[in-house]
Amino acid sequence: MSKWHGYFRRSAGPGWALCGDAGHFKDPTLGQGISDALRQVDRLAGAVESGLGGGLGLDRALRDWWSWRDRDAYEMYWLSQQVGAAGETPLIVQEIQQRIAGDRQLQDDLFRVLNHDLAPSKLFSTGLALSAAARTFAVGRGHRRLIVRQAADLVATAVANKSRSRAPASLRRSNQLELPAA
Ligand SMILES: Cc1cc2nc3c(=O)[nH]c(=O)nc-3n(C[C@H](O)[C@H](O)[C@H](O)COP(=O)(O)OP(=O)(O)OC[C@H]3O[C@@H](n4cnc5c(N)ncnc54)[C@H](O)[C@@H]3O)c2cc1C
Repeated sequence: MSKWHGYFRRSAGPGWALCGDAGHFKDPTLGQGISDALRQVDRLAGAVESGLGGGLGLDRALRDWWSWRDRDAYEMYWLSQQVGAAGETPLIVQEIQQRIAGDRQLQDDLFRVLNHDLAPSKLFSTGLALSAAARTFAVGRGHRRLIVRQAADLVATAVANKSRSRAPASLRRSNQLELPAA
């Protein structure tokens, strides 16, 4: 699929909210969009009910829901983008894939990530990445230059993804911006 872009839109304001693809879209490779929309509307219904019932008030309840939506979707956004990226899979990522394929616990963790029961960063941790990089480097004699370049790219991408400037507007505490995050 070409000519599409992901985004985290401003998704709440006085008396309104954007749910599902209207507010947020990401690379469809991981097949998260339908469950995202259902999870979001389930949570939104609770926010509307509690907002109308007094307490925080509706507008505040909708803004809080928007912040939750961004936190809920943010890590999966980058994981989807990496998994769905065109081109050859980096050797270190291939090593990580092989480890997951050969380890029952890691397989279970992957399913928990896809079910939103576990944050992607808990599975694709720095420790796993470093140990996969070390192993790839040790066995990849003829490809070490390539491995170093791919490792540098992966680190640069991870650092950029954590940058506050790429975070959705609600997570930057600015309600003014509609930010296409990729
Ligand atoms: C190529 C591709 C593959 C995907 N694969 C998967 C997958 O395997 N698994 C998965 O979970 N997700 C997948 N997704 C994502 C998923 O389709 C969406 O995230 C999901 O459908 C979003 O649901 P939604 O209700 O927010 O929006 P939609 O399903 O788009 O529903 C919005 C509806 O509103 C209607 N509408 C728009 N404007 C108006 C208007 N003015 N008045 C009345 N009606 C209007 C539209 O016609 C549409 O029917 C994929 C997406 C793409 C593009």
